[in-house]
Amino acid sequence: MQILRGTKDILADEILLWRYIYNTALKVCSLYNYHEIQTPILELTSLFTRSIGNDTDIVNKEMYSFIDQGQRNITLRPEGTASVARSFITNKLYINNSSNKFWYLGPMFRYERPQSGRQRQFHQLGIECLGSAEPIADAEVIRIATKILYELDIKNYKLEINSIGSLEERQKYQVELLIYLKKYKHDLDKDSQKRLHNNPLRILDSKHIKTQEILQKAPSLKMYLGKESKEHFNRLCNYLDAMDIKYSINEQLVRGLDYYNYTAFEIKYNELGSQDTICGGGRYDCLIKSLGGPNTASVGWAMGIERLLLILKNHFQPTRIKPEIYIATKGMQAKLNIWPILSLLEEANISFELDLQNNSFQKQLKRASKLGFSICLLIGDDEIDNNSITVKSLKEHKQKIVSTGGLIQEVQKLINKP
Ligand code: ATP
Ligand code: MG
Repeated sequence: MQILRGTKDILADEILLWRYIYNTALKVCSLYNYHEIQTPILELTSLFTRSIGNDTDIVNKEMYSFIDQGQRNITLRPEGTASVARSFITNKLYINNSSNKFWYLGPMFRYERPQSGRQRQFHQLGIECLGSAEPIADAEVIRIATKILYELDIKNYKLEINSIGSLEERQKYQVELLIYLKKYKHDLDKDSQKRLHNNPLRILDSKHIKTQEILQKAPSLKMYLGKESKEHFNRLCNYLDAMDIKYSINEQLVRGLDYYNYTAFEIKYNELGSQDTICGGGRYDCLIKSLGGPNTASVGWAMGIERLLLILKNHFQPTRIKPEIYIATKGMQAKLNIWPILSLLEEANISFELDLQNNSFQKQLKRASKLGFSICLLIGDDEIDNNSITVKSLKEHKQKIVSTGGLIQEVQKLINKP
């Protein structure tokens, strides 16, 4: 059987890294009083078309959508923010005015061309800070991102920030940008030519060299920012300076989703090649209102776990924790009587591999050695008759017969031997 293109099994060795990322996120987010939230993977398609925007790459060509048996139009979530916003409204979380700071980690789905750091089922860690229009909220979410990277020992990244202004400011700018770009229509790359009609702002972050050359003389979004946009941005910069978080201002940074305003930011990691953005985020003050909720200014980000893993794999070798003892049994009576012994091990928190085949002791011992175990318990007819257990040290080739009551002490002695 083949695995679906763009999806991946996460096997035992890699799971350790996942746990490490999850635990790090849990630790940092808890410090900042962000609460974990899990929303469904399935949502109504309209949630994403309304929030992400009809003319974006995600909605246009990347969504996994289908009609379910009740004739509903359903989509496997392509990102987390829309779902968190929906949950905030559905559960009326705004009513008691408690802290509405959330984080999540889970699978997202986009029909894209799979390549290194790009999958069709991928995972995002994200945080959303709902209910503050103040630049200090932007500063806090960016600080949490850098803190998580610090805890993961990921350095050498670059934080880029920009202000994309309010919707009205962007619309005014877009008109001017279009007038300019239309003059060079035939020199733009194919994607950008298409975007002239549906999403001209996205042309700004085209990686195409010729397009970038044309853009150098294009009108700049910065010139269209109003007083409030500028002030918000300047204050964010002040906060970042005060925290000593390094950043560069990238005036071409626009991000691919419609719902952003004011702050947009990305964290890039050069050594990842063309898929080098590990975190993207920004402010979305109008999203919740546009979905039918109360006016709730918000800001957040999402990190791609698969891209974090590519970085972590280069410098972090987690050690898989091996069970401590091997248990070999022989005969039906032994197998029936093994369970109280397992209870003793459970209580003492000693992990074990119980041999589940019906082989001879010799074969079982061979397997235990091959798997690298140094302690093996043998329980056969003799042991059952004498109410005892044979504890074998595979390293020292010694064995000792102990009573059930003395088992844990003997095993612990062997485990603690250098
Ligand atoms: P890109 O330009 O790489 O397609 P994006 O702007 O579509 O990114 P966002 O929607 O901002 O990405 O998602 C935030 C982060 O999620 C990205 O920075 C990236 O790390 C990760 N991500 C996005 N799409 C994928 C994917 N298909 N596979 C793996 N990770 C992804
Ligand atoms: Mg994308």
